[in-house]
Amino acid sequence: MPYSSTFPPLDIPDGVDLWTLLLGHKHRDFPPTKEILTCAETGRSYSWADLRSASIEFGKGLKALWGWKKGDVLAFYTPNSIDTPILTLGALWAGGTVSPANPLYTVDELAFQLRDSGAKGLVTQPANLATALAAAQKARLPSDRIILLGPHRDDPSSGIRHFSSIRSSTSSTGGDRHAQPARVHPRTDLAFLVYSSGTTGLPKGVCLTHRNMVANVLQASYVEGSQWRSRGGADGQGDTQLGVLPFFHIYGLTCGVLMSVYEGWRLVVLERFDMERALRAIERYRVTFAYVPPPVVLAFSKHPAVEAYDLSSLKVLHSGAAPLTRELTEAVWNRLKVPVKQGFGLSETSAVVCCQVVDEWGKFMGSVGKLMPNMEARIVGEDGKEAEEGESGELWLRGPNVFPGYFKNPERTKDAFSSDGFFKTGDVFRRDKHGNFYCVDRLKELIKYNGYPVPPAELEGVLIGHKEVADACVIGVEDQANATEVPRAYVVLRDGIEASEAKAQQLADWVANQVAPHKKLRGGIRFVDQVPKSPSGKVLRRVMREQARKEQRAS
Ligand code: AMP
Repeated sequence: MPYSSTFPPLDIPDGVDLWTLLLGHKHRDFPPTKEILTCAETGRSYSWADLRSASIEFGKGLKALWGWKKGDVLAFYTPNSIDTPILTLGALWAGGTVSPANPLYTVDELAFQLRDSGAKGLVTQPANLATALAAAQKARLPSDRIILLGPHRDDPSSGIRHFSSIRSSTSSTGGDRHAQPARVHPRTDLAFLVYSSGTTGLPKGVCLTHRNMVANVLQASYVEGSQWRSRGGADGQGDTQLGVLPFFHIYGLTCGVLMSVYEGWRLVVLERFDMERALRAIERYRVTFAYVPPPVVLAFSKHPAVEAYDLSSLKVLHSGAAPLTRELTEAVWNRLKVPVKQGFGLSETSAVVCCQVVDEWGKFMGSVGKLMPNMEARIVGEDGKEAEEGESGELWLRGPNVFPGYFKNPERTKDAFSSDGFFKTGDVFRRDKHGNFYCVDRLKELIKYNGYPVPPAELEGVLIGHKEVADACVIGVEDQANATEVPRAYVVLRDGIEASEAKAQQLADWVANQVAPHKKLRGGIRFVDQVPKSPSGKVLRRVMREQARKEQRAS
């Protein structure tokens, strides 16, 4: 029998799309003038009402200018900004699907996502424009389909527009013909198309419907919002979240942007993580909580600047995206008396799957918490049978926030689900008798560097493209000092090429030039005679991972 959530089931409305849930709902317990988005550096801000009207104007502009249709994909290639939620929600209002990409992607990485998602438009910032233009050209997206955020205005020579001119374009193009939002079918229409390598291979589009996202906002709101609120925590009026997670990743998108708009939290947006800036923002805006990955928890426990700021407003940190050790949780408590709660989620589950509840903090250390409402889980052993309570096995999940499949990829979609509709996560879990889940290992290939996904198959592809490399295998190894995993390559050189430290550095630099910075081979390159393979030729990364663990234990 699958485990059911220990929370009471929620009523997840069938006919409500994400825009309506966030900006069309009448039952908010905060006023429309409540400030929701604040730029940490400049103090520029949007209230809930500003966000609502600006997103509608942008959506109307898309329809008027480009004849935006339901299902058209708007890609994003930009660091965090208080303007991105407006364009995101505006595209949803117009019936579009949003596909965010890492702003540090190379031309080829971005071009892949633009092509694969069939993007009809691309939002970027002046600093990213050169890469965006090159990628758009490769993906055959015309340059006049690029929209700029930030201070710059339209560039008539290239046709590139600033988003504010799209917002105001309806008045000059017939206005109210475009006044109605698109009719969306929440169960089938996609709100987001995020990219993840899943359990194996190259990045794939993860289809997230409006219903998936509505469900996860309501699930997380029940556990994180209303539960916490009733215990004197987040209250929708005074709570302020530090927005350091990237909005292009599902964790930052759901827990950062969407939850803040729904709950009425003020989100203080940092362009990217920088500890000094984060500390300054906590002091200046009296930040009460933050969703972060483990390396940021590490920074709170160790960074020398922590003492220089007034952090007395901080009530709690939530850690997710990668494993958090008990030692780190304790180190932050001992230094700041701030509890660190842990959660667990995936792109394929619209983010949140499990989360520790605040009044149980300290009781079940190391746990990622309890299953979200309306979810079921199985823990499946290697024999394909459900594991006994307390034993570990692969985590399988079913629920309204679980994605319907990979974009235009029926084969991978079929592999990802059991015959009765459970999504096989590729993570190894156990559950205790109180309903707490523990993430104990990972079966899948994925590597997480500072919470960012690194698909090993992609790095192997790059390495094998080098003329001196015969074969390669990439795995994640622990970097305890930095509370993260780092990618390491085991490389077989071609006959006649000599292995040396200089050669390893040369290859590592060569890879670094072709991939986004989080994918660099920070775990080094080791030379081997062969890469272990299954009889069918599949790289046996688990064998290498075991070997690396043994080496690490021995050293
Ligand atoms: P992503 O799709 O990028 O969100 O990556 C999802 C993966 O991150 C999961 O399948 C896990 O392997 C890992 N992950 C997320 N949260 C945690 C956590 N709290 N502890 C360990 N691994 C985690």
